[in-house]
Amino acid sequence: MTQVSRETFDQVMVPNYSPLKIIPVKGEGAKLWDKEGNEYIDFAGGIAVNALGHCHPELVGALKAQADKLWHLSNVFTNEPALELAEKMVENTFADKVFFANSGGEANEAAFKLARKYASENFGSEKNEIISFTQSFHGRTLFTVSVGGQPKYTQGFEPLPGGITHLEYNNVEMLEKTVSDKTCAIVLEPVQGEGGIIPATAEFMLKVRELCDKHNAVMILDEIQSGMGRTGKLFAYMHHDVEPDVLTSAKALGGGFPIGAMLAKEKFAAALKVGTHGSTYGGNALGCAVASKAFDIINTDATLSGVEDKHNLFKTKLQMINDKYEILDEVRGKGLLIGGALNEKYKGRARDFMIAALEENVMVLMAGPNVIRFAPSLLVSEAEIEKGMAALEKAVAKVVAS
Ligand SMILES: *Cc1c(COP(=O)(O)O)cnc(C)c1O
Repeated sequence: MTQVSRETFDQVMVPNYSPLKIIPVKGEGAKLWDKEGNEYIDFAGGIAVNALGHCHPELVGALKAQADKLWHLSNVFTNEPALELAEKMVENTFADKVFFANSGGEANEAAFKLARKYASENFGSEKNEIISFTQSFHGRTLFTVSVGGQPKYTQGFEPLPGGITHLEYNNVEMLEKTVSDKTCAIVLEPVQGEGGIIPATAEFMLKVRELCDKHNAVMILDEIQSGMGRTGKLFAYMHHDVEPDVLTSAKALGGGFPIGAMLAKEKFAAALKVGTHGSTYGGNALGCAVASKAFDIINTDATLSGVEDKHNLFKTKLQMINDKYEILDEVRGKGLLIGGALNEKYKGRARDFMIAALEENVMVLMAGPNVIRFAPSLLVSEAEIEKGMAALEKAVAKVVAS
């Protein structure tokens, strides 16, 4: 076999990504190592996926045990791990029913199709408008990218699916003016992730619920990034006095194994009758066995109660860095989904900070060009946070001096 390297990427991969220069080869908890043996503190967490860190021994155990038993059947049969995981999700949330997919985009695709189907069957085909919000992100399939509120991701892919309206996030008046009996769904992230780590206000969440009830529209929460413990509760909606009709989950759901899920109340789930929707791999035994174990570990006091303390430590450390170097306007977010919004002077330079951080052996993310994002393992230790933030401070000093 030939030796592969970062250069191989440019030779054989479609150029839609621009991966950083190191190639991690091993991970454990909140640490990663590259081929040369350099150690990194990982505050990126595979973009909010590795909620239990890398290679959590119980997840590895669940994966290996299932690998010896049964991997895949297709949905011609059901399987025990899928049924067990679905039961856990129903018992611990608003939902009555679960549909499994392989990714977040696919979970949203199912949710949006469900909303259209439910509306057309119960109220007629004119009720087809989906209301979504600017800066939102819902996936990369043509439907989900069209519902998403970032025009740069749809440019050149036209013609796009129609019947989608984008409004300003957290703007209650505008929402009230726009929702009508033609609205079939309102879709939002309770904390916008890719759009810059922006939490929905309590008032906005309540208004979405109220307007969905008034106009028979489906309230869809995209909790692909905010869910599965990320904000300190199992799902972010649990911080509010609101339950959705439909919720999508992925990312941390599998702790690193690709899986997505759509949760729904019975009344809405009923719209997806036999044959109306499906997935070959969705709900495969291997993915569900891992996710089921991840669910057991995330949905405990031990995991969830630590998230708030770690949030505070991150925030304190970031503020200390900012007091010294004045790069941020604001530190925001919930739980272990934290954004540092760059001020006017450093606008557009999130990638510079990300690259400088990597050179100091700490991995951070960006959320758009103006926000440095942190989405570490929920199990990251205080010592690791301290060490990583000390490294980040060195990186910030270098960018500021450059
Ligand atoms: C990541 C993400 C998605 C898309 O998930 P994929 O698994 O990449 O398809 C959708 N919505 C939100 C909020 C996300 O953060």
